[in-house]
Amino acid sequence: MSAQRTLCIVKPDAVEKKKQGAIIQRLLDEGFSILGMRQVRLSRPQAEAFYAVHKERPFFDELCTFMTRGPVVAAALERDNAVQHYRDVIGATDPAKAKEGTIRKLYGTDVGENAVHGSDSQENGLIEISFFFAGCDLA
Ligand code: ADP
Ligand code: MG
Repeated sequence: MSAQRTLCIVKPDAVEKKKQGAIIQRLLDEGFSILGMRQVRLSRPQAEAFYAVHKERPFFDELCTFMTRGPVVAAALERDNAVQHYRDVIGATDPAKAKEGTIRKLYGTDVGENAVHGSDSQENGLIEISFFFAGCDLA
């Protein structure tokens, strides 16, 4: 399979716990290349735009409040089968239901504060990467 791209966001809960280094190292150990990486603090309008697909969901306000609570680390990742492999490595949305050894099981707190974001398709991975990185920033 050819290389695919996907977006990782280390969410504010994991940055607060100082787990961003461990999470990025795990992704490197899993064979991902990091094409770009930056720490940013999202504004409310930026968080609402990033999660616009969820705006009708009951947790939308809570999610945007959480995602703007502190800095996040966004990383553009590349690997064969990147989207599915990354989802396998992070585990289920709810850390309580995630498999042992997954990033959300290791570092997540609950279904909202679950340590990392993951893209759900190759197409959305590219759209989400472009939210954080200009093409010329990716190496
Ligand atoms: P995933 O991040 O696994 O793709 P979703 O796309 O369904 O999950 O949800 C996006 C994010 O919204 C989740 O990662 C989590 O932070 C938050 N979220 C999802 N479900 C809930 C919920 N029931 N209560 C609070 N926050 C939630
Ligand atoms: Mg999702």
